[in-house]
Amino acid sequence: METIIETNSPDETLEAGRQLGLLAKPGDIYTLNGDLGVGKTVFTQGVAKGLGVTEHVNSPTFTIVQVYDSGRLPFYHFDVYRIGDVEEMEEIGYEDYFFGDGICMVEWAQLIAELIPQQATKITIEKNLEKGFDYRKITIESEI
Ligand code: ADP
Ligand code: MG
Repeated sequence: METIIETNSPDETLEAGRQLGLLAKPGDIYTLNGDLGVGKTVFTQGVAKGLGVTEHVNSPTFTIVQVYDSGRLPFYHFDVYRIGDVEEMEEIGYEDYFFGDGICMVEWAQLIAELIPQQATKITIEKNLEKGFDYRKITIESEI
């Protein structure tokens, strides 16, 4: 199924993420692709909010994954922008996160495409400057 959501402010993108976080089920993996500054982290913050995460969620700059345990399910936020090699994913034991009972959100997932399970929900965020500086098109593709 493909869902398209159009937003015109960070708050609307946060809200789109929050709705997804409310519905997320144990073991869900979400991938996020889109250019730098498009809103992947804003969307992720919304998902965390929907899960009831109380800690502040930011891009994990110096670690590949940041774990948040304060929500209704564990939330694993990956940002693989700076990854050099997929082996770095193995070093951090990514399988425990991907195949556990928490929720995974993977920013820049295309950089580790070979590791992404087929059943992952794929989210793409795009700008369209013709529609304004703050316009974002969020496409969510899931198997079911
Ligand atoms: P990314 O993680 O994709 O690099 P961020 O989420 O860190 O991007 O930053 C997105 C930036 O775009 C923020 O500065 C935010 O305020 C701005 N922004 C403007 N309009 C939107 C929108 N509709 N949705 C999300 N972010 C927006
Ligand atoms: Mg980011």
